[in-house]
Amino acid sequence: MLPPYERVPKQPLKKRGKDLLNASKDALKGRRVSKEEYMERLDECYQCPYMQKRMGTCRLCNCVMKIKALAPSVGCPIDKWLPSNSGVESSQEN
Ligand code: SF4
Repeated sequence: MLPPYERVPKQPLKKRGKDLLNASKDALKGRRVSKEEYMERLDECYQCPYMQKRMGTCRLCNCVMKIKALAPSVGCPIDKWLPSNSGVESSQEN
């Protein structure tokens, strides 16, 4: 069952800003996680009670998970998946 909206522990604004900055840097450098890791991250999110499946966003960080899960330098706010070192250049992927 979904936790009531009022009791969702929102990620602090400062941390959200830092994640957004890091994800933007990844995008500018063309870095993204491997396809396998991307699918694992999304699987975790789509089984998570904080996922708003209709919107595709997380209730804790308000991110669009199909985009956030691509960035190697960011992680889940409750550590269901962590920042990764497996980042590959998007031009290297097949
Ligand atoms: S980022 Fe974490 S808390 Fe948010 S939906 Fe994904 S697994 Fe759940």
